[in-house]
Amino acid sequence: MQLSPLSQLGWCPYFAAQPLHTEPAPASSVPARVVVEYQDRYHLQGADGLLWAQLSGGLLRDARRDRLQRPAVGDWVAVQPAAGDGMGTISGCYQRRSCFVRQAAGRRPGLQVVAANVDTVFVVTEFGPDFSPRRIERYLTTVHESGARAVLVLNKLDLATDPDGVLDEARALAAGVPVLAVSATCGRGLDSLREHLAPTQTAALVGSSGVGKSTLINWLSASERQKTAPVREHDGRGRHTTTHRELIVLPGEAILIDTPGMRALQLWTADDGLRTTFQDIEALAESCRFRDCGHGREPGCAVRRAVERKRLAPERLASYHNLRREIADLPAHRRPEAVARARAASNQLRRARSRR
Ligand code: GDP
Ligand code: ZN
Repeated sequence: MQLSPLSQLGWCPYFAAQPLHTEPAPASSVPARVVVEYQDRYHLQGADGLLWAQLSGGLLRDARRDRLQRPAVGDWVAVQPAAGDGMGTISGCYQRRSCFVRQAAGRRPGLQVVAANVDTVFVVTEFGPDFSPRRIERYLTTVHESGARAVLVLNKLDLATDPDGVLDEARALAAGVPVLAVSATCGRGLDSLREHLAPTQTAALVGSSGVGKSTLINWLSASERQKTAPVREHDGRGRHTTTHRELIVLPGEAILIDTPGMRALQLWTADDGLRTTFQDIEALAESCRFRDCGHGREPGCAVRRAVERKRLAPERLASYHNLRREIADLPAHRRPEAVARARAASNQLRRARSRR
């Protein structure tokens, strides 16, 4: 089956059904996906290829007021292409299916979107010192919370002394999440990674520095990088720039998002994600005597009973408590609601537009 150029980029009924597509955007606007975001301009890919564009005046004002409304890599936007080589105008942003948010550093702190509309996130760790059940739980929580699907990748299989033991431990804490053992340098198990990619689906990798993300990304995108490497293009201002892409289409395989922000993703936590990661504890909690049991000293606590009967590791319960405490202690602007707000931000933006 031949996919249309837009489907190959991840366009699907979720976006096509949004009123922005037909309603407030100028009739001549077309959907395109953000490939790279710069300070003052965007590189987009649409049905007719790559183009440069700027935010419209209204969108720029909205984005200054609330940075979450600023389109990011992976976002779908409505753009009015310019004649010839000129800058197109981005008039709106489609509501996000998923999104990763982080605290911006620098002069203007605040929340910013790191990547949008990611379907599958590979949480990468290693058979080695980075392997930490607590860290994995935090990453999985962050991914569940973003709206994306998680796959846990244990890399450096070639260095493992007890691969089965580590894998068992990983499987126990990643309930419902596929766990893959691979070696990026030896090529072992890499086909299992490919099985979690599909055309029209967008994937990204997160994990600590040094676990092998770059090696995996290079392997996944090898043929594509070679083809597109040193192309130089006009940027609409008479300057030449080297093509740099943070969203790459791997033909017949998937779409890959690789931004510095994703690579250095801070751990975000949220109640929803917490519930998904700690399904075992949530299931036990249904049998607690009190509905709002905190699994501390309450009588009739099924979770503590499971620990006493060695059916639940005490460290896992401790880690659950820690994460809950951390969420409660987060400053208001970092609470889970902030992420939900980012996912809805493009919605507000659309409403703002149609009022004008
Ligand atoms: P990143 O920081 O997560 O992007 O990690 P890199 O891809 O830069 O890899 C960090 C180091 O680990 C490099 O020296 C890689 O060659 C090495 N490395 C990556 N994958 C493997 C693997 O499967 N086995 C071994 N032994 N080393 C690996
Ligand atoms: Zn309880």
